[in-house]
Amino acid sequence: GPVILGPQQHGIDPRLLSNNAVRVTSTLQEAGYQAFVVGGAVRDLLLGVKPKDFDIATNATPEQVKRLFRRAFIIGKRFQIVHVMFGQDLLEVTTFRGPAVDNAPKDEHGRVLRDNTFGTQAEDAERRDFTINAMYYNPATQEVLDYHGGIEDIRAKTLRIIGVPEARYREDPVRMLRVVRFAAKLQFAIEQHTAAPIRVMAPLINNVPAARVFDEMLKLLMSGHALACLQQLRKEGLHHGLLPLLDVVLEQPLGFKFVTLALDSTDRRIHAGKTVSPGFLFASLLWHQVLEKWNAYLAAGEFAIPALHQAADDVLDSQTEKLALQRKIGSDMRDIWSMQPRFERRTGKNPYKLLEHTRFRAGYDFLLLRCASGEIDTELGQWWTAFYEGDETARETLIAGLQ
Ligand code: ATP
Ligand code: MG
Repeated sequence: GPVILGPQQHGIDPRLLSNNAVRVTSTLQEAGYQAFVVGGAVRDLLLGVKPKDFDIATNATPEQVKRLFRRAFIIGKRFQIVHVMFGQDLLEVTTFRGPAVDNAPKDEHGRVLRDNTFGTQAEDAERRDFTINAMYYNPATQEVLDYHGGIEDIRAKTLRIIGVPEARYREDPVRMLRVVRFAAKLQFAIEQHTAAPIRVMAPLINNVPAARVFDEMLKLLMSGHALACLQQLRKEGLHHGLLPLLDVVLEQPLGFKFVTLALDSTDRRIHAGKTVSPGFLFASLLWHQVLEKWNAYLAAGEFAIPALHQAADDVLDSQTEKLALQRKIGSDMRDIWSMQPRFERRTGKNPYKLLEHTRFRAGYDFLLLRCASGEIDTELGQWWTAFYEGDETARETLIAGLQ
């Protein structure tokens, strides 16, 4: 059975729990079911951090859960879960999952494609990824149930995969990305048996559907620790194949500086509670690839603007499959890139027209990154800052000053 810790031992501050999480667990419990807060929320509670969302695990089936709440929706094909809504707040309620059955459908590399079996709490714990993500908290009794030594690993700041690492990565290669993200975000060390197979098994990520890899990449880049994540990815040999060509970029001094600056400013924005656009982020990550191709087309005698569009197409095409870049993100990236030469044209009505572009702010921020990385003269960025912030007279003076 699990190790059970009382409030004195785990020290969770019940005020970090959301009312709705308590509402869901108590409703389920009053109906005679078991219900616990589980996963990342318990991990965060133990670290004294307010969880950003709450997952609930129960022995009630999705149908049974749905009947107990006014706004509850069964979602998911691969494994059904219930979304319970209270106003804007959404909680995921999952029925305990059983072990993947021996005849569960797998792809030719051993990745489990479908498994819909319910199980006991102990079985549910065993299927989770890391020991620190496999604990259950019962708000009613204020007890933590720990099946895999998660408490000790939290205290030792260690990420340890549950079970045989190779087997767990084979079942689901995305776990390799998750361990890196958690290590960077929590500043935990990866236990050596958990880390060891990653370098060799990294190519298995290529067989995961692109959309899932993309979601995980986005989580990683939007974690507020993007820079640390990228460094950790490189350390574990995982950056190859995630963003094809990013390797090349990282090896060029200017490209490296540019990506580093972009990720650093993303992290800052997230910590300041500002939004980050995925389009801007990916436009940054791949800019030096675009530059390289742009220069090649220019050298071949193409005109500047068509050459840039051609380069953008090439880069987007080469990334699309891997990243499953959504159409919106791709078009944002294209906008940001194709705006860049327009910042060079500062005469007549040109600057005013550019200012009216719906993506001006993103294009301008991108220009400043290019200046900061040493790619282009900082004078251009300074001029645009003065123009953007200036009044009508200041703007006219700036344009006149160029002659
Ligand atoms: P975050 O704070 O980033 O949301 P999290 O631990 O809550 O971290 P989720 O992706 O929300 O991560 O997943 C919730 C829980 O589901 C995890 O804590 C873990 O127990 C389990 N889990 C998620 N993905 C996997 C996976 N690929 N393999 C095994 N268990 C997983
Ligand atoms: Mg979560």
